[in-house]
Amino acid sequence: MANPSLLILAGDGIGPEVMAEVKKIIGWMGAKRGVTFDVTEDLVGGCAYDKHGVPLHDDTMAKAQEVDAVLLGAVGGPQYDTLDFSVKPERGLLRLRKEMDLFSNLRPAQCFDALADFSSLKKDVVAGLDIVIVRELTSGVYFGEPRGIFVEGNERVGINTQRYTESEIARVARSAFELARKRANKVCSMEKANVMESGILWRDVVQEIHDKEYPDVQLSHMYADNGAMQLVRWPKQFDVIVTDNLFGDVLSDCAAMLTGSLGMLPSASLGAPMANGRPKALYEPVHGSAPDIAGTGKANPIACILSFAMALRYSFDMGEDATRIEKAVEQVLADGLRTADLMGPQDGTPISTTQMGDAIVAALDASL
Ligand code: NAD
Repeated sequence: MANPSLLILAGDGIGPEVMAEVKKIIGWMGAKRGVTFDVTEDLVGGCAYDKHGVPLHDDTMAKAQEVDAVLLGAVGGPQYDTLDFSVKPERGLLRLRKEMDLFSNLRPAQCFDALADFSSLKKDVVAGLDIVIVRELTSGVYFGEPRGIFVEGNERVGINTQRYTESEIARVARSAFELARKRANKVCSMEKANVMESGILWRDVVQEIHDKEYPDVQLSHMYADNGAMQLVRWPKQFDVIVTDNLFGDVLSDCAAMLTGSLGMLPSASLGAPMANGRPKALYEPVHGSAPDIAGTGKANPIACILSFAMALRYSFDMGEDATRIEKAVEQVLADGLRTADLMGPQDGTPISTTQMGDAIVAALDASL
C-alpha cells in the first residue's frame, strides 16, 4: 500500500518554527512506529506572494487536491498589510478551504489538567474539559446572496443573507454524528429556530438525519444564545456541538478560550470523502503567524503538534498514535515545562519552541 501523503505548508512568521517541531514528530513516527509519510512542502501566504506574486500558486492548489491531508502553519504579517485584498496572505488559505470544499470545521476545546489554573474560569469548571465544536464553514450568512451596502431612499442599508440548503445542513450534521460515534456519542445542535427560518430548517434536517441514519447517537437542540451561556456556565455538559458558520465562529472562539492559550488550540477542516474514502482535509493551529514573537524561539508548537494528531485520527485512522501524542503533550505539561505563553511573569523560566518539541518527542519515546 502507498505511504500516506502529506502536503506541508508552513507559511509565514512562526508557521515554519512550529512546523519544524511537527516534522520531528513525523520523523519519530517513521523511526519508532514504522509509519512513513510521503511529505511534500510548498509555500502559502506571504512567502508564496514573495516568490510567485500570489498567496497560493495553482501548482500548490493542485498538490493540495491530490494528497491525503494538508498541514498548514500560519499566514500573514505586517509587511503584507498594504497589499491588494486579492493577494493578501489570508486569501491563500481561503482559496484552499473553498476549492477543497472543506465544509466541516472541527475545533476541539480540551483543557489539560496542568493548565486548568490558566483558564479565566474556575478550575473545576474546566479541568478535564474535552469538547469539539463542528462549525459549518462554506455557507450561511458569510456567503449568502444578496449581500452588500445599498442605498435605500436617503440612507445606506447593509445586507447579508443567511441561506442554507438541506444538503448543506445534512452533510455537516453527518460529520458531527460520525465524530460523536468516535467519542461520547452525544451531539447538541445549536441554532435560533425561535426567530430564524434557516434555524427551523437546520433543526428539522439535523433531526431527520439523526432519526434515519444515527438513531444510536444522543441528540439535543439548543438555541445558540443559550448555548453561549451554557458553554461558560458548565461546558462539560457537551461532547460534540454542531452549528452554522456564524454561530460556530463565535461559539468556537468562546469555547477555545476556556482552555487557556491560543498556542494550544488545533483545528481540522474536512470535506467530502475522496476516492480512497478519506475526507479532503486541512489541519492547522487556530493561531496566526504571531509576528510579535516570530524568530525569537518563544512560539508554542503544541497547537500545530495537536493539529498533526488530529490528522492521524481523522485522515489516517491512527487514533492510537493521536492519543499517544496528546498524552505526551499532557505529560510534558504535567512535568511543568512551559513556553512563555503558558506562564505568568513570576512563574520561572520558559522553555523555547525547540525545547518543547524535543520534550514531546522524549515523552513519546518514554511511552513505548
Ligand atoms: P496571532 O494568533 O498571530 O497572535 C495573537 C497573539 O497570540 C500574539 O501576541 C502572539 O504572539 C500570540 N500567539 C499566537 N500564537 C502563538 C503561539 N503558538 N505561541 C505563543 N504565542 C502565540 O494573531 P494576530 O496577531 O491577530 O495576527 C497576526 C497575523 O496572523 C496577521 O497577519 C493575521 O492576519 C494572521 N492570522 C493568520 C491566521 C492563520 O494563518 N490561520 C489566523 C489568525 C491570524
